[in-house]
Amino acid sequence: MRLSTGADGNTRRDTPVALPRTANPPGPLLPTVSIVEQTMYEARRSVAAALIGATFVVGSLLIERLWYSTVHETATGIHAAAQQAAADLTLADQRLTSTAQMAVATGEQRWIDDYDRRVPDRNQALATARSLAPSGVAQHFDTQSRAAKDELDNLREAAFGALTVGGVNTARTIFDSDRFQRQTQLLSATTTEFTTATVAATEADVTALNQRAVVIGTLVSLTGVLMGVALWRRLSHRLDRSRSVFLDAEDRIQRLASSDLLTGLANRTALHDAMSTAMARAQRDGHRMALLMIDLDRFKPINDRHGHMIGDLVLKEVAHRLSVCLRSGELRARYGGDEFVVAIEEKDDPAVAHAVAERVIQALCRPMLIDNLSLAIGASVGIARFPDDATHGDELLRKADSALYRAKANGRGGMCFYDARLDEQLAERDSLEQDIRAGIAQGQFVPYYQPIVDLASRSVQSLELLCRWNHPKRGLLSPALFIPLAEQSGLIGAMMLSVLHQACIDLPRFPTHWRLSINVSPQQVLDNTLVPQLLAVLSEHDVQPQRRDVELTETALVNDTARTRQVMQAMKEVGITGTLDNFGIGYSSLCYLAEMSFDKIKIDQSFVHTMHDRPESARIVDAVIGLSRSLGVQAVAEGVETERDAMALRKLGCGLAQGYLFGRPMPVDHVMPALGAIAA
Ligand code: C2E
Ligand code: MG
Repeated sequence: MRLSTGADGNTRRDTPVALPRTANPPGPLLPTVSIVEQTMYEARRSVAAALIGATFVVGSLLIERLWYSTVHETATGIHAAAQQAAADLTLADQRLTSTAQMAVATGEQRWIDDYDRRVPDRNQALATARSLAPSGVAQHFDTQSRAAKDELDNLREAAFGALTVGGVNTARTIFDSDRFQRQTQLLSATTTEFTTATVAATEADVTALNQRAVVIGTLVSLTGVLMGVALWRRLSHRLDRSRSVFLDAEDRIQRLASSDLLTGLANRTALHDAMSTAMARAQRDGHRMALLMIDLDRFKPINDRHGHMIGDLVLKEVAHRLSVCLRSGELRARYGGDEFVVAIEEKDDPAVAHAVAERVIQALCRPMLIDNLSLAIGASVGIARFPDDATHGDELLRKADSALYRAKANGRGGMCFYDARLDEQLAERDSLEQDIRAGIAQGQFVPYYQPIVDLASRSVQSLELLCRWNHPKRGLLSPALFIPLAEQSGLIGAMMLSVLHQACIDLPRFPTHWRLSINVSPQQVLDNTLVPQLLAVLSEHDVQPQRRDVELTETALVNDTARTRQVMQAMKEVGITGTLDNFGIGYSSLCYLAEMSFDKIKIDQSFVHTMHDRPESARIVDAVIGLSRSLGVQAVAEGVETERDAMALRKLGCGLAQGYLFGRPMPVDHVMPALGAIAA
């Protein structure tokens, strides 16, 4: 969209405003703590918890396995040693018994010696078995075997003693005796019981150890599983939190990227996306879509006068009112400073866009009560349709903008539908604007002068400075052809200064008591540099204060009374008098008129031209003259073309007059020849 100026002189901004697709209230958009920091913190805690948990579980399992393998190895070793000790003991016993039997059978001394030699082996085997046996089992064995062992030892002693002296039969009798056999069986049974009990006890230890290992392993695994579950829950909880933080951040970023921060409406980016979607939908369903471009009237003066805070509140209120006017799904966006865009589906009813535009205009025309100030803005609306006027988003926006320009040019608070001729007019307007720019630089705008005379004496009081454009191709152009465009494009100030500069050069050629009346546009009243710039040119050319007069059209007063009052005051202070121009057509309030202290009031020529034919016009002329008199200011009748007009006005008491009767606007060289006679 290009930079353009509305009919009220508000420059429409081209640059996108930093800025929210939904009509959500803006809300706090920026988090107080960095989301990234928060998430990093959460992630670090999660990873630390996971590592600690995993280390604990793995460590526990490793320790348990290490402990188990060590203890199991020991227990298995003891069990094997016990088995070995039991086998050794049984073998030693068997050998001892067979040696004793051989000694008795043969009666040879060597078997007796062999027996004596084997006794320590058997005792050693018994001691090893006892050391491995649980103390209860060993004690039981000692108690059970002691008597039999002692008896057997005694019997063997006796048998071996008999053998030594050749009593083989005695020895055999002892070994064959029931007593010896019983004690041998008893000791053998006790030893077998002992070794079995010892082996069983070590076996039980190993089994218990295995069971304990299974229990401990199960417990550790169970703890691991429980910790794993707890850890997973904690992790997933943290992940959920991180996820929601990220989603929240994503949502915020999306809102920031697509919304206008101030109003909560969609911004330009979101508007383009939403328009593409809406156009695709309309195309699919075979419907029309209408794009309404809305520009606020009188927003700039409010912003300038009450500050940006109030301006912001006005924009928020506008967004709210737009939302109230539209259905919930309808797209609304802030397009620029005081520009809004609304997209509506028309279905097959072309009256919908018209009705919505009307609702929007009415809603925005109602005064706003903001910060105890009653503020009146308004809105103009330009409408373009898809697919009739454009098939692409940018083109649709541009055409709605052309229509808006036309709506504003037609006057405030209006609407205009796009028409292909608008583009041609705009192109023409663009080239004319370029020409004006060049014309100012090349001094093509020249001053023409029209006398304002005293009706009684017909002497010239002042000259109204009226601008003409000496166009290189089109010849001399009258203000109606270029002033409105110069005003709209913001070139009016530069143009006026250029003409004033030339007029000041001309001024010494006129009698010194003739004033110079300079026309100032309503747009210039809003320009803070107006008075200083006027003063600079007038002072540069030594134009005496009594010759300085400015004509301000009544529309300026109506548009922005406070600003006009300020400008009037500032002009008074530097010795410039003020004339209220075109009075009667702007509906200004009489009380403002009294406050402004104008020096002259110019009756609009439309009343003067018709005062003979229309009694209302005559009554208005009469009333304005009466009003001027009561306010103590001079009345000037404009558009006096005939003597009859002059006479009638004089009769009504009008002091000053301007019109073709006394002289048309003329170039400097014609002034003195034409007016010299009535100059006195
Ligand atoms: P205005 O200030 O109301 O000026 C009076 C207009 O009435 C002039 O038209 C003048 O030629 C015309 N006029 C004067 N006597 C008669 C008459 O007896 N009969 C008829 N039919 N017309 C008469 P002009 O020169 O075409 O200027 C039109 C408007 O353009 C001016 O209206 C003024 O508002 C604006 N204008 C002209 N020069 C400048 C300028 O330098 N700066 C600004 N801001 N506006 C200017
Ligand atoms: Mg004027």
